[in-house]
Amino acid sequence: MIRYTTLEGARSSNDSAFHAKLRQSFPRFLAYCGIMRACRAIPQFRLMKPVVIGLLLPEGADAEIYESAARYAAHGPSIVCGGLDSTEVLRRMSDRGKKATDGDLPKTLSVKRRVVLVAENMGCVPDSFHLAADAVIQIGAVLPRHVITAAKFCLQIDITPEQAEFIATVPVSVVAAALRRGRPVATAIERMKKAVVPKPREVSGPTLDDLHGIGEAGTWGRELATDLSDWRVGKIGWADVDRGILVSGPPGTGKTTFARALARTCDVHLVLGSIARWQAKGHLGDMLKAMRAAFDEANRNAPSILFLDEIDAVGDREKLSGHNAQYSSEVVAALLECIDGAEGREGVVIVGACNHPHRLDAALVRAGRLDRHVRIPLPDLKGREGILRWHLQGLLVDMDLSGVASRTEGWSGASLEQLVRQARRRARRERRGLVLDDIAAELPVLVSLPAEMRRRFAVHEAGHAVVCIAIGASEIVRVSIIDTFDVTAGRVQDGGGVTLKEEGLRERTPAQFLDRIALVLGGLAAEEVLLGAKSAGGGGVRGSDLHNATMSALTFEASYGLGESLAYIAADNEDDLFTAMRFDRGLQERVDRVLMEQFERAKRIIGEHRKEVERIVEALLAKGALSTEEIKEIVEQQPRLLFEPGKKAV
Ligand code: ADP
Ligand code: MG
Ligand code: ZN
Repeated sequence: MIRYTTLEGARSSNDSAFHAKLRQSFPRFLAYCGIMRACRAIPQFRLMKPVVIGLLLPEGADAEIYESAARYAAHGPSIVCGGLDSTEVLRRMSDRGKKATDGDLPKTLSVKRRVVLVAENMGCVPDSFHLAADAVIQIGAVLPRHVITAAKFCLQIDITPEQAEFIATVPVSVVAAALRRGRPVATAIERMKKAVVPKPREVSGPTLDDLHGIGEAGTWGRELATDLSDWRVGKIGWADVDRGILVSGPPGTGKTTFARALARTCDVHLVLGSIARWQAKGHLGDMLKAMRAAFDEANRNAPSILFLDEIDAVGDREKLSGHNAQYSSEVVAALLECIDGAEGREGVVIVGACNHPHRLDAALVRAGRLDRHVRIPLPDLKGREGILRWHLQGLLVDMDLSGVASRTEGWSGASLEQLVRQARRRARRERRGLVLDDIAAELPVLVSLPAEMRRRFAVHEAGHAVVCIAIGASEIVRVSIIDTFDVTAGRVQDGGGVTLKEEGLRERTPAQFLDRIALVLGGLAAEEVLLGAKSAGGGGVRGSDLHNATMSALTFEASYGLGESLAYIAADNEDDLFTAMRFDRGLQERVDRVLMEQFERAKRIIGEHRKEVERIVEALLAKGALSTEEIKEIVEQQPRLLFEPGKKAV
């Protein structure tokens, strides 16, 4: 008999009974293969050891089939002998925007050795589960080779690789109905083709007019809607329609929401693609297939909008090395080919979304591709008020929301949505209608910062600013410090910040790397020079100054061979680099040396420009924030700051 690697978990004497049972259902077997493949990196799952695992269903998958398959995978052969084995399989499906609740999860987690949660998507996984889980894994789409295996194993039907390619794209329940023992596979495939009707358009949800605080993106979208309707009636040619746009912005600012609203406003078919989700499929071939299928769907349903989420996940061919470079090159090349192919056909508009536009491959944003770029900013006061109104869905219509809106500066649309949800929950718990105070009560409690702490923040940010100007590392847009903080958070995450022009951050030469490290350490350096000691505020968490500086120094030493050693030790990603450093004393010492040298350099610069630092500190304490012009004015009283006297030619 053929043994399949996916059946590895089954080792006991119940093996053959288990196999026989598994073979009874073709769709369940397919789902089982997908689950075992997704869990291959979690050996304790296969080995029937204690494990807590989340499994995210493939898009559009039949949850019941997968849940049942997950039972087989989780219990293993003991499922046939009926023995109690302290394993539990649970299922969570999305419930129209409701946040996932714990339910009986905590109890299950505390009494069962093995817990498997089958969830429709990440949103259905409760926070408490994340805490307990060894992993939350996306189950990949059905693979052609699994189709071949399952057909042989369950139905004794032989399927060619070409047939399997197609069948793998059809929903499992449709395949199961069409594929029958004794029926020619070609006939079954004909039936499947007829059964797979295009998905109906999504009609509910916001249109562009309902979305607030999305800036220029809204204007562009409304113009596109007009152009598309003019094009449909033949008033203008396809050449006059904008075919692609790149939207960028912080997480939760509504990029995905924008794409949906755009499709609704233009009344066209929407294909939601995500580069990151496709890449989670692992193999390059699977990734490319998913990508091509999305472009095909968009072409078939034109006029349509093809949304490419997390497009920065493909990376930049110039910046990657080794294995990643090979993989990424092929992905970028295929993506370009798809985009250019869609360009040739009329009626497909491509919307790319990303958090980090500067990480994109230059070819992607070249003229004729995603050559227009709009940033969706964090919403301003008016925008925040509008977003709150939208999510209140007709509640509190007569109330003035500007008060609460003004207390949410810096919040994204997603956080505002969450705020409304919490306020409604509060009202529901007390069994009454929502009142404005429910929202206010869910806002963080802000208290003013002690004067001494505020001065430390001002010194810190002034330090960054002055080092930045002195070494000419980048252009400053704004420097600010906070004056209140959220007591519920327990500590201050960010005392303020220096905003730089984005493109200044692409380091390529050793000097640029070192400048960046000096700049990042400038805050702590100023604290030490002016206040006599550093504080803990520069480190402690991901995204802190120390974390950033260490990452830069690590890539410099271990990925790009720009430091003392030429050896390539790890790829330029955080996990690999920090792991490498933990096990490599030499590397640790080299990184520390780079950091210390740049820290000394930053302190020297601060010492030489103490006057300017102090003036910026005073201005910051007085105003809270300084613009480019204001900083220039302060600095220009002392022209010698325009160059760094002690700068080495590195
Ligand atoms: P992104 O794709 O930028 O990370 P999403 O579009 O997924 O953000 O938005 C996350 C959540 O925040 C959604 O549930 C959406 O309802 C809400 N949201 C974000 N921006 C807005 C907005 N401008 N108006 C209304 N809701 C918004
Ligand atoms: Mg998104
Ligand atoms: Zn800092």
